[in-house]
Amino acid sequence: MSTCLGGCNVWTPRRGRKKSSTPAESPAVVPVAEAPSHTPTSDSDKMAASLNQKVDALVKSNPEAAKKLEETIAALEKTYLSGESAEGPIGRLGRGFQTFKSNVYDKDSALFDKLKTGQWPKYMIIACSDSRVDPATIFGLNPGEAFMVRNVANMVPAWEPKGGYPSVSSALEYAVKHLKVEHIIVIGHRLCGGIKALVTTEEGQGSHDFIENWLEIGKPARAATKAVSGSDEVDEQCKFCEKESVNVSLTNLLSYPWVKEKVVGKKLSIHGGFYDFVEGSFQVWDFELNVSHSQKF
Ligand SMILES: [Zn+2]
Repeated sequence: MSTCLGGCNVWTPRRGRKKSSTPAESPAVVPVAEAPSHTPTSDSDKMAASLNQKVDALVKSNPEAAKKLEETIAALEKTYLSGESAEGPIGRLGRGFQTFKSNVYDKDSALFDKLKTGQWPKYMIIACSDSRVDPATIFGLNPGEAFMVRNVANMVPAWEPKGGYPSVSSALEYAVKHLKVEHIIVIGHRLCGGIKALVTTEEGQGSHDFIENWLEIGKPARAATKAVSGSDEVDEQCKFCEKESVNVSLTNLLSYPWVKEKVVGKKLSIHGGFYDFVEGSFQVWDFELNVSHSQKF
């Protein structure tokens, strides 16, 4: 097989050759001495020919280095040509971080120097934990732009002081009172597994340790769905409930006195959003004390 990672006509190791215990007599790697199909004329052809010559010389003079080179090329081929990853799942994250550091962090020192002193996000976004609906990805947000909560089915529980482990409530309090965000957006999405569980699981029939209990926050949405769309197929019911549950969360947001006070005082806007990754659209609507205005993108 003769394959070049750069798509050019440079040396590649020959596969399936016979190994020898005397590398000095029979080098570990044999260069492919393919005659070029045409006389090199372009700069890239000349560079490729020059690189071929250098690699040939290396192989002849240093079988150990040649062996190392072959191993490196084999690993690169495995990663980039076969579609398999040799780096492993954590290595994948490391590579992603290095890409972020090179392309974003190292190129915007003004932003990251500012963020070292604090954060001033305009938005609080409450979205589902679903791996397909990351708000930073779909909106192209920069670090520092959005304070974020993600949970199963993007739920906001109603005001309940001193109750349980208030994960959402504490994030909300910090965002509204200290960060003074200007917009809170609750985003539902198409094909939400949490909403499907809410729609299809009878009360008290769940089999999970936590999920059904959490989804009970969306009970009013389930009731509205059954009333409006209860005779439809499950998928149609889910479509309705995916948006209606956002409205339940928006209503619940207004049960927090310091949220309602800021909404009434026009210092805070709350919005519903819906991301449909099946048709590739995003819809947003304002939710101002039950008056809604919708836009679709
Ligand atoms: Zn979801």
